[in-house]
Amino acid sequence: MNRILIAEDEPRIASFLTKGLRSAGYMTTVVDNGVDAAACARSGDFDLLILDLGLPGQDGLAALAQLRARGERLAVIVLTARDAVPDRVTGLDLGADDYLTKPFSFEELLARIRARLREPGRDTPTTLCAGKVTLDLVRRTATVDGRQVELTAREFLLAETLMRHPGQVLSREQLLDRVWGLAHDPGSNVVDVYIGYLRRKLTPDLINTVRGIGYRLAT
Ligand code: CA
Repeated sequence: MNRILIAEDEPRIASFLTKGLRSAGYMTTVVDNGVDAAACARSGDFDLLILDLGLPGQDGLAALAQLRARGERLAVIVLTARDAVPDRVTGLDLGADDYLTKPFSFEELLARIRARLREPGRDTPTTLCAGKVTLDLVRRTATVDGRQVELTAREFLLAETLMRHPGQVLSREQLLDRVWGLAHDPGSNVVDVYIGYLRRKLTPDLINTVRGIGYRLAT
């Protein structure tokens, strides 16, 4: 089982990450400052570090610089509210493996974690199929009967989420959490709207409505 260190000082985000990652089968530990982040990341106990940049003690960039200066090769995914280009460039220069800007969707984070933890030489699925619909998870493209269909990033993520859980009912709340992350308004009907887009763009019978609960990939 992979172990993930979460360096995040906002309790709401730390608990959102912990809950989601544990239900995805990872072991997690949370630290809430940059000093502990650097120290724990060097312990050898973790396979991946999710690093917030705005941390007390020392900020995430300083923690990252310290880790890499000591030759620590642990995979690091940086989370940041700052989407300014200089921060991104600095983070990548200092050796972050990947970046996500808050608010991020949980499925996108999971996809990046899977990519970072993927063992070399081991085959992992790069496509998902349901009926006539195929998603290419590497190129992020969708085809219906071999014909390419344009999906937005959000539409793709929603289709991917449903297709990763065939036959399983996913509630609106689960889909909001996984596809829209923390950015959503809980009363929003955005899920229903996007399900409509997918039915129109892909196939009308791809997704079943489960009344009062949510949606399920048709099997
Ligand atoms: Ca923070």
